[in-house]
Amino acid sequence: MDKFINELEDYFNWYKDIYGNTLYTSDVVDPDYHINISAGVSEAQESPAYTVASQDFSELDAFREQIKNCTRCHLSRTRKNFVFGLGNPKSELMFIGEAPGAEEDATGIPFVGRAGKLLDKMLYAIGLKREEIYIANVLKCRPPNNRDPQPDEIAQCEPYLIEQIRIISPKILVALGRVSGQMLSGQNKSLGILRSGDYTYNNLPLIITYHPAALLRNPSWKANAWIDLKKIKKMLNKD
Ligand code: URA
Repeated sequence: MDKFINELEDYFNWYKDIYGNTLYTSDVVDPDYHINISAGVSEAQESPAYTVASQDFSELDAFREQIKNCTRCHLSRTRKNFVFGLGNPKSELMFIGEAPGAEEDATGIPFVGRAGKLLDKMLYAIGLKREEIYIANVLKCRPPNNRDPQPDEIAQCEPYLIEQIRIISPKILVALGRVSGQMLSGQNKSLGILRSGDYTYNNLPLIITYHPAALLRNPSWKANAWIDLKKIKKMLNKD
């Protein structure tokens, strides 16, 4: 009985992480994903090692080597690490965040803080692991005190992201939050408006959804984020 209660508690903690405080019925929650997740809830909660084995990194690696000591903008003076990006260089799905935070700056790895852990759980909910996707940011260096990236910083860093997208050549791009959504769509609109639009970037479908850090601050948005994730999953499965 204790085991069952513990499992139920784990399950509801997981559920709250993904959907927020509202208990949904099947109009939002997909029972198939539920079954997958409840079977793997403890695995999903462990911190992944963020390693990617036996992929062809050569072109991306060469590019990283070329730009890792970048001094194009003043953020290079305060960074601890240049956060290039990580994941499967042949991924069909590429996520693009905003900029490294303190933990990413300390480790050189994108999305390792609280927001990253939520992202891992959300990916897991659609049957994906971090090492199967590629994840990068608009800025490769941390803005002091996590302030918003400035237009001049974005302008200096943007060519790096464009080249990463060219090398990885994903099927779908996912912008996490307003900064990457605005950059990739070229539209200076709020996230709420961007999210409901249809966009492409260099002929690639572009989905604009919430940044996981925003979901941590506003759990009521998680239901919409889940709708976006299911759309991504459907698009991936199309062909
Ligand atoms: N937020 C981002 O946008 N990127 C990270 O890598 C971490 C937090």
